[in-house]
Amino acid sequence: MKDLTAVAHKARPEGVERYQMWIGGDWVDAASGETFLSEDPYTGKPWAELPRAGAADVDKAVAAARAAFASWKRTKPQQRAKLMMKLADLVEANADSLATIEVLDNGKLFAEMSGQCRYIAEYFRYYAGAADKLHGQTIPTDKPDIFNFTRYEPLGVIGMIVPWNSPLLLLSWKLAPALATGNVAVIKPSEFTSASTLHFMELVEAAGIPPGVVNVVTGFGAEVGGPLVDHPDVAKIAFTGSDDTGARIYAAAAKGIKHVCLELGGKSPNIVFADADPDAAVSGVISGILAASGQTCIAGSRLLLHNDIHDAFLDRLVNAVGRARLGDPMLPDTNVGPVATRPQFAKVLEYIDVAKNDGADLALGGSAYSGPGTDGDQFVSPTIFAGVNNEMRIAREEVFGPVLAVIPFKDDEDAYRIANDTAFGLGAGVWTQDLSRAITASEEIESGTVWVNTYRMVSYTSPFGGYKRSGLGREGGFDAMREYTQTKSVWMCTKPNTGDPFVMR
Ligand code: NAD
Repeated sequence: MKDLTAVAHKARPEGVERYQMWIGGDWVDAASGETFLSEDPYTGKPWAELPRAGAADVDKAVAAARAAFASWKRTKPQQRAKLMMKLADLVEANADSLATIEVLDNGKLFAEMSGQCRYIAEYFRYYAGAADKLHGQTIPTDKPDIFNFTRYEPLGVIGMIVPWNSPLLLLSWKLAPALATGNVAVIKPSEFTSASTLHFMELVEAAGIPPGVVNVVTGFGAEVGGPLVDHPDVAKIAFTGSDDTGARIYAAAAKGIKHVCLELGGKSPNIVFADADPDAAVSGVISGILAASGQTCIAGSRLLLHNDIHDAFLDRLVNAVGRARLGDPMLPDTNVGPVATRPQFAKVLEYIDVAKNDGADLALGGSAYSGPGTDGDQFVSPTIFAGVNNEMRIAREEVFGPVLAVIPFKDDEDAYRIANDTAFGLGAGVWTQDLSRAITASEEIESGTVWVNTYRMVSYTSPFGGYKRSGLGREGGFDAMREYTQTKSVWMCTKPNTGDPFVMR
């Protein structure tokens, strides 16, 4: 295994780096000995070689986790918290190295990933602090001579399946509350972005988290994710990814009556009312659709514009987006990096064609991009379609790329109707200077998060999750502690029970 401190910040490796998995406290290859390659989306060249795990490796990882659970669940929460605090310090100290690896794998901007990797430490600190604050209740029951209390107990082995867009952040949303509440983990990162999770395991090891408490199996969805979901000793699947995969996992988990938390896709509306501050709104709309090249679950991919400001706002937006600099995600003056994977690149271009064929008006972009400083053939020009109606596929389906659909509306009711006319319900933006409109909008919109005069803000302190097809369960905030526990009710008789044993009391 490579030493994380040796990862040169913002440097591309010369050759292909070889990785091993972390199972039961050992660095191991896949049982089959097979491997697969991960490409740098900026250069288009492979840079990492990873074990191609299968069902046998999943069995081994789940067995290691189960064995570790026996003592981890009994470890005092304060002790678990100490280890998590240590892990947080190590994450913070190594944030730039972790960020470099994430950029090599998914092409997101180093400037963003560096801040994001540093912020991950706060999730571990928050849940470390919460570890000894989840306590049960004593219940004043109606039964005579009874002392009744509840305990929150860990679930056991949690299978964590993560996508490629923010691999370590989305893992930490699961891992931090799961560890704090006494659970153990088997992690399956995306096949496109496994390297940072394996480096993260070096920090888990260095923090002194006992062998088997956290394990990683790398490989493909059907070959590794499938067996993990089906495994009888896995108590819960915490999944982030597309709605179609989420639905498949939900159905498979149902067979084993497993707990699930599903964080899925979105088609989030960003609503600009006529009274909005136009500078703030333009900036929020851009961060909603261009950050991470539009590859975020909360992308504000439907821009709803009031008729009175439609043309002027669109002009302003097109001008601002037209100035975005595409290029090497490692460089500080790059605004938009490549699309993360080849299949995703093809999908984004396909949706651009769909929108054109469905009659949307192309206001900006609309094609692949190649220009100075864009190697690797995986760039898409920031694209804006005007004249979209909410029935078009570009308004209904998640593109996961830098493609914005602009939909006009006539009044507030119209805006809420369009905003809610979607299968999804992850996020929504509201731009207005009218306080009562802001409150009404936050009540009317059917989504797990509503931002008013801001966009794309998340924190460890606040719950995050979807309505409708955007998912089930919540990550972030204290709510997430309950997601990883089950409640036990304990009844103690304080006097000998001499009643009729055949009649329920
Ligand atoms: P995906 O669904 O293709 O893959 C996600 C993960 O599931 C990967 O690790 C993959 O290997 C695994 N997987 C695939 N098939 C599987 C199967 N049959 N059984 C078990 N595991 C399987 O998603 P993606 O393309 O990696 O990520 C993009 C999607 O993630 C988008 O839809 C995006 O909106 C969503 N996302 C949601 C959130 C959120 O918090 N709601 C955050 C980020 C991304």
